[in-house]
Amino acid sequence: MLTGEIFKMVTALRPGTYRHIDTLNFCPVALFSSHHRAPEHLHVERLALVGAGAIGTAVALILSVLEATGDLTVIDRQIFESPNVITYSLGTDEDAGARLPKVDIVGTALQRMNIRRVHGTVDDFISHIDAGTMPLPHTVLGAVDNIAARHDLQRIYADLVLDGGTGGRAGTTVSLHEALPTGPCMRCYFPTNNATVTAEQRLHQATGLPLARIAQGDQALTEDDLRGLPRQGRRLLEQHLGKPVCGLGRVMNLTTVNGDNSYQPSAAFVAQQAASLMVGALIARAHNEDSNVRMRQIEYDTLYGPQLDMIDDRRPRSDCYCQTSQDVIRAVRNERLGAVEAYRL
Ligand SMILES: [Zn+2]
Repeated sequence: MLTGEIFKMVTALRPGTYRHIDTLNFCPVALFSSHHRAPEHLHVERLALVGAGAIGTAVALILSVLEATGDLTVIDRQIFESPNVITYSLGTDEDAGARLPKVDIVGTALQRMNIRRVHGTVDDFISHIDAGTMPLPHTVLGAVDNIAARHDLQRIYADLVLDGGTGGRAGTTVSLHEALPTGPCMRCYFPTNNATVTAEQRLHQATGLPLARIAQGDQALTEDDLRGLPRQGRRLLEQHLGKPVCGLGRVMNLTTVNGDNSYQPSAAFVAQQAASLMVGALIARAHNEDSNVRMRQIEYDTLYGPQLDMIDDRRPRSDCYCQTSQDVIRAVRNERLGAVEAYRL
């Protein structure tokens, strides 16, 4: 948050788009009031982290500073590359040069924990669970950047999902969604909308690139195309110069579902605040055995800081899969929990 204050001072933000914070009483565990007693030590069992990107590496940094112990499975299919060095909380130029898997960056930072690495997809992880070679996690920390990936991590059917995110129009908003297999689930928070907005329209809305230009999809994006676009559009497209326009919606994650505006390259201090909310919720749950804990949706703009109205209670949507297919979900969970027992034996 201190880095965020410096960011506000050194960047030319428009007046009225931020608030300087000179005093703050904020505990990410208790949300606002200070926690009456900091936990002596964080020990986790059957924890999974899906996504070792900007938020995932921030989660790992916080867990390592907390000297957390226990077992953690990290799932990510990507390689750590040089653009990641400035936006991630872990990883160096040397790591990028060595093209290390992102799961290895996280694993190396958490020497006190027993780390299992899945250098692959959530489906690869689920295959391990179903085969009994990895346990069903109790809690999944979701650190992914699009809606389809959020639906994927819900399909693990862990007891609890703590999903962090960054986004908003300026990429400065942070969020936390707490989800259960019986609802509210990630599909309740992010319903799939099959409305008729096309990938081309989404690319146009996100970047300002004219639809007529997008229609010439096989022609590579040039400097000329960027001229006259809004600053946000230029920033999003600059890194894709030379690529054919038709694939841009996909590489920019715009094609998954309608209304997904979560693709925003957020600064590290933003991702770290999202990670703080996730680890805070993990600590709060680890020290509260009450099974009727409410499911919270938390969201605030880091340019304004945490606000009193940032917490909502969330209920399942009555037409969601988690409500209409409870028998299936229960059966899958029982099967996977059985595999946990076998795994222990
Ligand atoms: Zn649901």
